[in-house]
Amino acid sequence: MYGIIGNPLEHSWSPSYFSEKFEAMGIMEIYARFELKKIEDFPRLIQQFPSIKGLNVTIPYKSSIIPYLDVLSPEAKKVAAVNCIQFANGKMIGHNTDIIGFEKSLQRFLPSHFSSQALILGTGGAAKAVAYVLNKKNIPYRFVSRSKNIKILSYQDLNDEIIKESHLIINTTPLGMYPDIAFAPQITYEQLSNQHYLFDLIYNPEETQFLKLGKQQGSFIKNGLEMLVEQAEASWEIWQDF
Ligand code: NAP
Repeated sequence: MYGIIGNPLEHSWSPSYFSEKFEAMGIMEIYARFELKKIEDFPRLIQQFPSIKGLNVTIPYKSSIIPYLDVLSPEAKKVAAVNCIQFANGKMIGHNTDIIGFEKSLQRFLPSHFSSQALILGTGGAAKAVAYVLNKKNIPYRFVSRSKNIKILSYQDLNDEIIKESHLIINTTPLGMYPDIAFAPQITYEQLSNQHYLFDLIYNPEETQFLKLGKQQGSFIKNGLEMLVEQAEASWEIWQDF
């Protein structure tokens, strides 16, 4: 048995993805939705379902799950967020496959000669996974947040120059996600050009307002679907490796 913990889970994409995958593979596994009202209910869940071999973790428990785990992978430790739990040799090991998913998807999106700087819109869990990958790829970046901080840019700080010079802009905020599809991060879209690469972690809708506005300026665009599939496949690989 496999599954996902989070709250709410009614719109979660993972159960149908894994159920279809298991059916296509002809294996009799189950991928269940475990909607936890609070993270304190996690130990009881594990006791109740001793046959669980792997779990995904989603909002709002990617950080609060950590104290319940025995070991963390180096990546999960660095970003202090877990979206995949491996049950191996009586231990619960926390991994972060959002990092793998984003890295693979970015690799296919950016040209090999890319040599500009990046802006990461938002400072939550996904933003930290994105920053981890940019560090690894030696792409300089700055975070953009609604709150002011010495190290972080605010949306008001984003002048035309910064937008013009930052050829990779990654939206890690929920702005524009279904059903609030009219919203988009507040940047000066007129400064975007065909030198810009806009990556939105959102996958529903397929083309967010952020991506639409970038496309109108001739920018390259990419949504979060491939990242989502890659993080799920990376979880599956981890669960098979015990
Ligand atoms: P999170 O921890 O809640 O962080 C989101 C960040 O966005 C916040 O820290 C906040 O940063 C900013 N934000 C929130 N509401 C905002 C608003 N109304 N206006 C402007 N900024 C706002 O969430 P997360 O786990 O990082 O996930 C973020 C998004 O990525 C979600 O849409 C999620 O579905 C998506 N995601 C996709 C994948 C994938 O595989 N494609 C994987 C993980 C996450 P500030 O407070 O600093 O402004």
